[in-house]
Amino acid sequence: MNSLITQIEDLQKISQELNPSVKEREHINIQIQEFVNNFLKNIENYPAYVEGNPNIEKLSIQKNKKDLKELLSNFNSEVVLKGIKPASGKHLGYIPGGGIYTAAIGDFLASVTNEYAGMYYASPGAVTIENELLNWMKSIFGFPKTAIGNLTSGGSIANLIALTAARDKHKIKNEKITKSVLYLSPQAHHCIRKALRIIGLEDIKISTLELDEFSKINTVKLEKKVQNDIQKGLNPFMVIATAGTTDTGAIDPLAVIGKIAKENNLWYHIDGAYGGFFILSENRKHLFKGIELADSLVIDPHKGLFLPYGIGAVLIKDKEAVFHSHHYTADYMQDAISADLQINPSDVSPELTKHFRGLRMWLPLQIHGLEPFKASFDEKILLTAYFRNKLTEIGFKLGPQPDLTVSYFWYPSKEIDENVFNEKLIEFIHKNGDVFLSTTKIKGKFVIRMAILSIRTKKVTIDTAIEMILKCLIQTKEVFSIS
Ligand SMILES: *Cc1c(COP(=O)(O)O)cnc(C)c1O
Repeated sequence: MNSLITQIEDLQKISQELNPSVKEREHINIQIQEFVNNFLKNIENYPAYVEGNPNIEKLSIQKNKKDLKELLSNFNSEVVLKGIKPASGKHLGYIPGGGIYTAAIGDFLASVTNEYAGMYYASPGAVTIENELLNWMKSIFGFPKTAIGNLTSGGSIANLIALTAARDKHKIKNEKITKSVLYLSPQAHHCIRKALRIIGLEDIKISTLELDEFSKINTVKLEKKVQNDIQKGLNPFMVIATAGTTDTGAIDPLAVIGKIAKENNLWYHIDGAYGGFFILSENRKHLFKGIELADSLVIDPHKGLFLPYGIGAVLIKDKEAVFHSHHYTADYMQDAISADLQINPSDVSPELTKHFRGLRMWLPLQIHGLEPFKASFDEKILLTAYFRNKLTEIGFKLGPQPDLTVSYFWYPSKEIDENVFNEKLIEFIHKNGDVFLSTTKIKGKFVIRMAILSIRTKKVTIDTAIEMILKCLIQTKEVFSIS
């Protein structure tokens, strides 16, 4: 017995390290605070993109303990100073966001308290916070109170949950799979096709829709396709629209598609991962008319609400359709069964135990209120216009007037094939790295993309971008010996 107690006491001395004292915590906090302050002070001075790979040895797990100071130094040199800088306002590629500081504090609080946000029974408060956030989103997008939803890790899983509900509502299984048709824009995000494979719908028929000159779904053609497919004896069951495509920021004609969906008993899914929250801009609200007709909707707070990566959201009107796949009760969870009025997040998602990610959204919304968010949306829209004006001034061609804040441009080289020229130009832009831009192909044409969505993107950022582009333009012309 005595030896047992001595053993426990000996082990306690060692394991205690995992539970730092006040003094030890203060020591850690001071160093982290200093790191964070330096990072945020300098973030706009770093290039937005640095090529290069990390030194793996500095990041690998080794036997010996390391000092926090050394770790922070390695983290800075090998992680922070390499690759794309998502926190930088000069990140104008893909879909940026920036990362609101108070969201990080929400994550910190969520981790320290470690509330169990998967089930109401375990943390009524945490689940209420998440459900209130979902209720708030329902009200913004005109969804009924009876709709349910989930805060996911991001847009991909949010889309997966919606597609699963559509599958289960329309009972797409067995021999029905190969006869069922899903209507999709070629501009739909690739995570949709990934999700279809994951949920066993790899073999459905995907009908790729035609687009108009603004890269939006041509609804006349959509209607014709659905009629044709019905006549052929196929089973049209779903149409997907995008509210803010990743490539060009286009919002599909949501209301018209909603009408077609209703008339033909199609599940109507809208992917608003990037663009959805622009509905809060008084200047853009009208473009979202019809979003309330969706059976399911995805929005990404880690894009449109500028939160750090790790939070998406899905809203779905048909609760039973969602519960079919996600609601499950195991024997070891019998304590949790009660007549909860609140929805358990674990009944709406593949996740059981999960990060209490609602807090990182709740805290910024509560601390800052909505006004700064709304101002940011309008600011980003105007910055997009400003960038486009400046690009025209220095001789670039622009894609069509965007609905939101993603747009594209290219240099109309007369001497060299335009695709070849612009591919070279982006090489120089990436090598320069001061401002980060990405590229895409629009109908086979290689174009440079801008996406303005970071909280830290300001007018000065756009001026810097133009300066950089001019420099790189000269370098590109030199390569091709154009004066
Ligand atoms: C980013 C994006 C996604 C994927 O979301 P993740 O959060 O990256 O998983 C889906 N759809 C659209 C329109 C997007 O912009």
